[in-house]
Amino acid sequence: MVNRRFRPVVLAFLASLLVLVPATRASAQWVAQGALAAVPVVMNCNETRGDVAVSRRHPPAIYVCPTVVRLIRKKYPGAEHFYLVHEYGHIAEDTADEAIADCWAAKALAGAPNGGRYLVAVIELLRRRPDERSPRYGTPNERAERLRFCAEEERADALVVVPTPRRR
Ligand SMILES: [Zn+2]
Repeated sequence: MVNRRFRPVVLAFLASLLVLVPATRASAQWVAQGALAAVPVVMNCNETRGDVAVSRRHPPAIYVCPTVVRLIRKKYPGAEHFYLVHEYGHIAEDTADEAIADCWAAKALAGAPNGGRYLVAVIELLRRRPDERSPRYGTPNERAERLRFCAEEERADALVVVPTPRRR
């Protein structure tokens, strides 16, 4: 059985988000549309090499490792969904750039039913080791800020996605 543990701050924030989400959309989530819907999603941990998901662009395909998905889901339920959407970002923007794929995914989720939940989950995950620098992503803290910024841009006139209070 999956043990779902949220930190209190996330719980409180999630609760505030859910209040604002219409009940009819409560079970929905982001799904690939248009040309992206035709991209095959293959469960294959050899292809991801320890990562949760990777993508190929020519021809487009996404590979997902269910073992890593389960590990992420156990501690940060919903964060695994962000990583899938991020791979669609690489394909949609036809880029290997991680920041562009991140921003695409943050905007896609910010505009989708329940998308805020997945963003909150992945931001929480990233903030666990905020200063571990990666040449492709920057630090997890920088990545979390990027997600917040892009999501806020998308929802400038809608919901606030960020856990930290901020004036607009
Ligand atoms: Zn990527």
